Amino acid sequence: MYITNAQRPLKEWHLTDFEIGRPLGKGKFGRVYMVRTKAEPRFTLALKTLYKDEIIQGKVEKQIRREIEIQQNLRHPHVLRLYGYFHDANRIFLMLEFAGKGELYKHLSKAGRFTERRSARYIYQMADALSYLHSKHVIHRDIKPENLLLGLNGDLKIADFGWSVHAPSNRRATLCGTMDYLPPEMVEQKQHNEKVDHWALGVLTFEFLCGTPPFEEKSSNATYRRIAEVKYTFPSHVSSEARDLISKLLQYEPDKRLPLSEVLVHPWIEKYRQRASQGAAK
Ligand code: AMP
Repeated sequence: MYITNAQRPLKEWHLTDFEIGRPLGKGKFGRVYMVRTKAEPRFTLALKTLYKDEIIQGKVEKQIRREIEIQQNLRHPHVLRLYGYFHDANRIFLMLEFAGKGELYKHLSKAGRFTERRSARYIYQMADALSYLHSKHVIHRDIKPENLLLGLNGDLKIADFGWSVHAPSNRRATLCGTMDYLPPEMVEQKQHNEKVDHWALGVLTFEFLCGTPPFEEKSSNATYRRIAEVKYTFPSHVSSEARDLISKLLQYEPDKRLPLSEVLVHPWIEKYRQRASQGAAK
C-alpha cells in the first residue's frame, strides 16, 4: 500500500506512528529503514533518518533544505516521492517512497552491463522524468547510477535531489565526488543550465551499455581533459542506434544536445519500446 495524494494527511507525523522494519541502507548522514504506518490503511514507506549534528558538522543544511523543498513538490512515476518530513530533538526524518528493488548501481555492478533493451527502457524513463523536472525548472545536476533506485516492479526512480537547483543557475559546480558525469561547461566552470542533465543522460546510456562511464580515467585531471575534448570510444558490441543517441547527447555545445522530447522517440528507444509492448500483448 502506498500513500496517495488524496490520502496525504495534513497531520503532523511522529516516529511512534510507524512500525520500524528492516534497515534498507546507510547513507552519509544516517540510515534508511523500511517502515509501515501503524494506523490503517498500513502504508509501507522508506524512512530516512538524518542526524542534525552531522548535518551541521557536514555544512549541508542548505543542501538538505533544498532537497526537501524541491522533492516535496514533485509528482512523477519516475521521481522518488517525498511524502513529508518531521523531526525530533536530534534527528530529521524523511518519509520517502519505498523503492523495493534498491539501488540501480548494485544491479549494474552485478550484471556488469545491461542489455540494450533494459538500458533503453531505463533511458526512456529517465528522459520522461527529466523532461518533467525541467518543465518545473528543476535541474537535477547529479544524475548517475548511485542516485537511481528501482521500484518493486523494476521501474526507475530518480532520487537524491541534494545537488538539484531551480534553473537558471550560475552557481559554480562544487567539484567533489565523481567527475565522470560532469559536462564540459561544468568542468570548465562556466555557466550552466538544464542541458547538463542531457549530457549526464548520454553518460548514463553509455555506462548502462558498457559498464563503465565514457570518460573514466585514473586521475580526475585526465578525466577533465577527456570530457573537455569529448573523447570517448565505443566497444564493438554497442549498436549503431545506441551510438547515434549517445553521440547526440554528448555534444560539447549545450544547445546542440538532443532535446528530451526527441530522446523519447529516438529510433533506439522506439526499437525496444515496440518490442516490449508486442511482447506484453502476447
Ligand atoms: P542515502 O542516504 O539516500 O544514500 O540512502 C542510503 C541507502 O538506503 C541507499 O543507498 C539505498 O540502498 C537505501 N535507500 C535509500 N532510500 C531508499 C528508498 N526510498 N527505498 C529503498 N531503499 C532506499
